[in-house]
Amino acid sequence: PAISTTEHIGLAETHSAHNYDPLPVVIAEGTGAWVSDVEGRRYLDLLAGYSALNFGHRNPELLAVAHRQLDRLTLTSRAFYNDQFAPFVTALSGMVGKDQVLPMNTGVEAVETAIKVARRWAYDVKGVPDGEASIIVAGGNFHGRTTTVISFSEDPDAYTGFGPYTPGFRVVPYGDAEAVEAAVGPTTAAVLVEPVQGEAGVLVPPPDYLPRLREICDRERVLLVADEVQSGLGRTGTVVACEHTGVEPDVYLFGKALGGGVLPVSAVVADEDVLGVLGPGQHGSTFGGNPLAGAMGRTVVRMLREGPYLADARALGEVMRTRLKEFIGAGAFSVRTIGPWAGIDVDPSLASGRELCELLAERGVLVKDAHGSTIRLSPPLVVSEDDLNWGLDQVAAVLADL
Ligand code: PLP
Repeated sequence: PAISTTEHIGLAETHSAHNYDPLPVVIAEGTGAWVSDVEGRRYLDLLAGYSALNFGHRNPELLAVAHRQLDRLTLTSRAFYNDQFAPFVTALSGMVGKDQVLPMNTGVEAVETAIKVARRWAYDVKGVPDGEASIIVAGGNFHGRTTTVISFSEDPDAYTGFGPYTPGFRVVPYGDAEAVEAAVGPTTAAVLVEPVQGEAGVLVPPPDYLPRLREICDRERVLLVADEVQSGLGRTGTVVACEHTGVEPDVYLFGKALGGGVLPVSAVVADEDVLGVLGPGQHGSTFGGNPLAGAMGRTVVRMLREGPYLADARALGEVMRTRLKEFIGAGAFSVRTIGPWAGIDVDPSLASGRELCELLAERGVLVKDAHGSTIRLSPPLVVSEDDLNWGLDQVAAVLADL
């Protein structure tokens, strides 16, 4: 017999670690922008797996490729080549005009890989004395959960009690190119930055920020590493968020949507003079570059190039930009959008982000809070304008009731 929402939650709370605090919804099925729970209630998914589901739940094109691949070959390890590997790395490097790809699995693994590559590049190419390479990062960053990556987080929940921390990072305020200029020096290997800060609440930096970082990095011989794990692959209406300012970083990091919502696939993408610093045995992953991942990754690249997703994302972004402006003063005190990606701040004395999410779930809309009293919206790029408008009606109604 089917077990109820309450029973699922009870068992999950008893038998799983409490490192998340999910909304009380137990999802059982999903199609496109919609999911249904174990009781058959339907919800519009305006989170889209933190942008891992840019192409929607069970996208038919991705599923067809996944099914075909499941019937042929799923895993080889990198001890051998597999026939999905070359098409994947060729397509992904070509997508952003770089030479090479280093495939991993989760987003944070791509970040860790970039840190290792940048340090090795600093020693072997730039001539930084061994052990002295430093990486400049931005305040309010979110790059994942490993011990090294939380070492340069500013979020006490993320870092407290997990020391000792990995040295070699300098945190400067986000959006402040002057601060990067002041921090950069002869031992700087890289500037690691999110082109738009997602977890921080969809923070869009000033338009001259990335261009100025590019200039500083060129002048000081420092690698500019763009973490596009959340912002890339259509989320802002472009292939990469860096496109909005015309900046080409030295290193792109991808994850989330690269796996098509099917499995974790991440990648570091850069030119040969950067990724070439790694030789056999110096980095790797059992699952990185596996055939199922390759099949998903190359399909995602093809869909972005040939499909309607980028144009649709821009149209949805216009809907969100126009409608969200109306929320200011009507429950929200500020909103930010870039493409179909938005952060909405409410007065903390009126409601927490969590409370807003609970009220929206009751109305059949799934979203997630960022910090404090901010909610972020990142609908699947396949949502219809009517459904998106309906979802935004629900947001408007919840805000108006505060
Ligand atoms: N980098 C950015 C910008 C992210 O938003 C995230 C996840 O939210 C990560 C890295 C980490 O990805 P993962 O959770 O797959 O390790």
